[in-house]
Amino acid sequence: MQPEDITDVILTHLHFDHVGGATYYDTEGKLRLRFPNATHYVQKRQLEWAQKGFEKDRASYLRENIEPLVQSDNLKILDGNQELFDGVEILLSDGHTLAQQTVLISGNDKKLWYAADLIPTTAHVPIPWVMAYDLAPVKTIEEKKKFLKRAVDEHWLVFFEHDPRTCCATIEFTEKGYKAGAPVIL
Ligand SMILES: [Zn+2]
Repeated sequence: MQPEDITDVILTHLHFDHVGGATYYDTEGKLRLRFPNATHYVQKRQLEWAQKGFEKDRASYLRENIEPLVQSDNLKILDGNQELFDGVEILLSDGHTLAQQTVLISGNDKKLWYAADLIPTTAHVPIPWVMAYDLAPVKTIEEKKKFLKRAVDEHWLVFFEHDPRTCCATIEFTEKGYKAGAPVIL
């Protein structure tokens, strides 16, 4: 499969480490889209926040990552929770940044939740462990409680995008609170 074959890209949010791969400089120094035939999905409130630039996190938003998408016909702006495709549901979270898109994928009686930067590693599963990057840590805590309860009740597999050792695990609720279960190989 080549980059040209990719049809859809869900951008959880526009921090450089989550959107940087969507653009590149060609040999003439011109910015290009890495997936030129793909529709890229972003939330309206996230795009507005990225373009406004606020001191807390504006260093995480780079023009070269975002403007080529905005100038193209490949960006689709969404607004709110929704089922994007059959079995692919967008669930928003505001604690890390505004309107971050987490993704719940369902199929074959299993559910895989891409938690994005709401729960970036297994170390962030316990409720009080939140990132200094978060815009609203108290909101992150509220959202983690809501999502982790569903993860346990509905037996979700959770994908940890920033964890160097465990990319995926179930969630367990113990007398000490939530923790990641045994790693799952996808
Ligand atoms: Zn982030």
